[in-house]
Amino acid sequence: MAKPKVAFYWCASCGGCEEAIVDLNEDILKVAELVNIVFWPCAMDFKYEDVRNMKNGEITVSFINGAIRTKENQEMAKLLRKKSKIVVSFGACSHMGGIPGLANFWDKETIFESSYGKSCPSAENPDNHVPQERWKVEEGELTLPKLFNTVKSLDQVVDVDYYLPGCSPEPYLTMNAIKKILSSDLPAKGTVLAPAKSLCDVCSRNDSKPEKLSLEKIQRVATVQPDPEKCFLAQGIICMGPVTRFGCKEEGDGRCISANMPCRGCYGPPPGVLDVGAKMVSALASILGLEGEEEMKDIDVEKLMAQIPDPAGTFYRFSLPISMLKRKRMSEDK
Ligand code: SF4
Ligand code: SF4
Repeated sequence: MAKPKVAFYWCASCGGCEEAIVDLNEDILKVAELVNIVFWPCAMDFKYEDVRNMKNGEITVSFINGAIRTKENQEMAKLLRKKSKIVVSFGACSHMGGIPGLANFWDKETIFESSYGKSCPSAENPDNHVPQERWKVEEGELTLPKLFNTVKSLDQVVDVDYYLPGCSPEPYLTMNAIKKILSSDLPAKGTVLAPAKSLCDVCSRNDSKPEKLSLEKIQRVATVQPDPEKCFLAQGIICMGPVTRFGCKEEGDGRCISANMPCRGCYGPPPGVLDVGAKMVSALASILGLEGEEEMKDIDVEKLMAQIPDPAGTFYRFSLPISMLKRKRMSEDK
C-alpha cells in the first residue's frame, strides 16, 4: 500500500521549527518508515513546481510553520492547503503569529527605516535603499516577495485542521501528532494537539503562588537571582504560566520553569482563554487586589505596572496577531 504523503514548509519564522523536526532524532527514521516526505525544502531539494504539479488533496498532511509575513508565505500556504487533506499549524508563529507578530506594532516603512535607514546605527546606506520587489541588475531582474504590513497566523489565511503549539513544538508532541493523524483516530477539527492544562496546573511551584499579592517592585529576571523553589509571581517576576498551555515537557515543570526562568507564553492559551494578554492583566489585577484590597492601599499600582518595561511585548510576546488588538491601527494591506 502506498505510504501517506507528508509535507513540511517554513513561512516567516526563525527556523527553529525545522530543527524541531530534526530533533526527533532516531524517531525521524520511524517517520520516514511511516510516510513518504514529498516536500521539505529546508532539508531536501524540492521545488514549488513539484507541489503545483500534484493533484488537489494528494498530500495527506502538511505541517506549516511560521507566520504569514510575505506574499510568498501566503501563496505557499494557499497552495499547500489546496494540495493537502490535512493542514497542521506547526509552532507558535504559525499558531499565533509568534515573535514575528510583534512587528504589528509598526508598519513596514518604519521597520525598513530602523533596519536600513538612518536610525540603524550599523547601516551604511547613504542613498537610502530599502528592499524592492523588483530590481534591475546587469544580469537581469531580481525579485523579492512583497512584505505585508500585517503579520498573520496561518489560520487567518487558510483553513487549519490542527495546531501543534510551542516555540518550538516538543518532539514527543510532534511524534504523537504524526501517529494520531496517520491513525483513524482523528481528533476533532481545530484541536490543539497538546495537554488541555495550564502551566500553573502542573507547576511544582504552584503551592507558593499567592492568592493575594502585595508587591513593591516588579523584578526583571536579568537583574535578580530568582528563588528556584518559589512561584515567580510571588517574587514579583512576570510569569505567563497562568495563561499558557502546558506541553513544553512531557512531564514535570515547563521547560523554562525547570531552568529557573519564567514562562513567556510560547505554547499559547489553554482552553477557555481567548486573549492571552488581557487574561494575564486581569489575573495580575486580581492577585494584586486592585479592587481596594487592604494590602494594596499604600501602593501605587500604576507606578508598579509602569515598572514593566515593555507591557505589550511581555503580555503578547507570541500572540499579538491573534489577540483582540491584532496590530497598531493603520490602513489594510492591499
Ligand atoms: S506563575 Fe509560573 S512559577 Fe508560578 S505556578 Fe504558574 S508557572 Fe509556576
Ligand atoms: S515554559 Fe513557557 S515559554 Fe518556556 S517553553 Fe514552556 S510554554 Fe514556552
